[in-house]
Amino acid sequence: MQINETLIRSVVEQVIQQVRHSASPTSNGAASPSTTGSSGPRGHSGLFDDVDSAVTAARHAFEQLQKRPIDDRRKAIDIIRRISISQCVELGTMEMEETRIGRLQHKIEKLKTLGEKTPGVEFLKTECYSGDRGLAVIEHAPFGVIGAITPVTHSLPTITGNAVSMIAGGNTLVVNPHPSGKKVAAEGVRRFNEAIRSEIGIDNLICLICEPTLETAQQLFKHRRIALICVTGGPAVARAALNSGKRAVVAGPGNPPVVVDETADLDLAARCIIQGAAYDNNLLCIAEKEVFVVNSVFDSMMAAMERAGAVRLNAPEVDRLTQAALQRVGEGADAHWAPRKELLGQDAWKLAEAAGRKIDPRVELVFGETTSEHPFVQTEQMMPFVPFVRCPNFETAVELAQQAEHGYRHTSIIHSRNVRNMTIMGRTMDTTLFVKNGPCMAALGLGGEGYLSFSIAGPTGEGVTTPLTFTRERRCSLIDDLFILGR
Ligand code: NAD
Repeated sequence: MQINETLIRSVVEQVIQQVRHSASPTSNGAASPSTTGSSGPRGHSGLFDDVDSAVTAARHAFEQLQKRPIDDRRKAIDIIRRISISQCVELGTMEMEETRIGRLQHKIEKLKTLGEKTPGVEFLKTECYSGDRGLAVIEHAPFGVIGAITPVTHSLPTITGNAVSMIAGGNTLVVNPHPSGKKVAAEGVRRFNEAIRSEIGIDNLICLICEPTLETAQQLFKHRRIALICVTGGPAVARAALNSGKRAVVAGPGNPPVVVDETADLDLAARCIIQGAAYDNNLLCIAEKEVFVVNSVFDSMMAAMERAGAVRLNAPEVDRLTQAALQRVGEGADAHWAPRKELLGQDAWKLAEAAGRKIDPRVELVFGETTSEHPFVQTEQMMPFVPFVRCPNFETAVELAQQAEHGYRHTSIIHSRNVRNMTIMGRTMDTTLFVKNGPCMAALGLGGEGYLSFSIAGPTGEGVTTPLTFTRERRCSLIDDLFILGR
């Protein structure tokens, strides 16, 4: 009886909401077709022009979801996974055409793999303690509406992974996507919402600001009905989230170093470095960004890289590429190197061309020798050129790797057969992800064990985000009356 009443109430609410929407498609701040670049109905499918309307709709969706069984969450995330897999070619191509960074094959692969490897409601295991004094049950409850900020490097994949984890945890979300990836973000969100609504009758589980700006991001940070924020991006947005005054899950920047010692299998190391650093043209935050090699195997390692198919640039070519690819930005204490937009996420042949060399367009990675102070070492370049630094010994290599990582504690990688060296580097770097003898993506379950998410929260400590990241602990205690009576 109780269940029937709840069900009926929720169906009635749904019908009222649908009637409201169809009577006035943009009256609640829903985005107009011209602003999103996405076809299909507006407002019914998570697309909004302003933060307040989006948060209100997401809150309404949350209240409906709360009344539903966990199986409805399972159905919703199965739909997101299914679309992510079955429409990966179309959506990946859209993302490539809009953002114009990275590699099409990997845009498609990221969506497909997310559909396959993102954890769901099975992560929400209830803990239980029983004893003389009764029972304590610890459950994982949702926060409510989560504000998500997503990067241009994986616009729809980050939204997809966030949506699966957050909805599995019982939440709904409002996304402020990167402006340069907003169209594919809107199209993906529209498709997810439409399919979810037709399956479980709830709209707007995932809401999106169709014209995102820094102001809309700030409004999301400050909105009183946003219970938690989850930010995936570079240093500026990570700082903004940490200063927002709201609880934040911060998946910030990285500059992952690789150390190669004298015991490493150099051919394997070369293949792994190319696989990780060239993936999506080095856009992954976990991707190999600079390599420190001990002197005794430095020349052999450079030869191994060439054998594995990467092209070595000489010193003048590295200089020309540096001029073309990096620039000084910021002032005073904030002055630093940053990648130039024109070469960020571009193919290796374009970097070689900027360096003054014509190479086979099928080459995935270019590399060259630099000093450890070189801007390519110290900057998160996000392009398929990797600097190699010659180090007198293993200890120096680790020390320089630690400096280049800038304390982000994001990702580091070692190629070695010496367990002691692995332990020393692991302890020194203290990164959220530490990979031994594999490409970076092994740490996200791609060719290694574990599960996948594109939001890896280093600064706030949650690590690779899962549905549990987006839940609160709730304890329910039953006191054994026999115990009390016995006293
Ligand atoms: P970005 O920092 O330029 O933008 C990320 C998002 O933050 C965008 O939506 C942007 O509009 C917003 N933003 C930027 N500055 C802001 C501010 N001051 N206030 C509010 N919002 C702001 O990053 P990007 O170029 O889109 O992505 C690449 C960066 O993201 C790299 O640094 C990479 O390491 C990082 N990243 C980290 C992870 C992770 O899991 N840790 C995953 C992917 C990318």
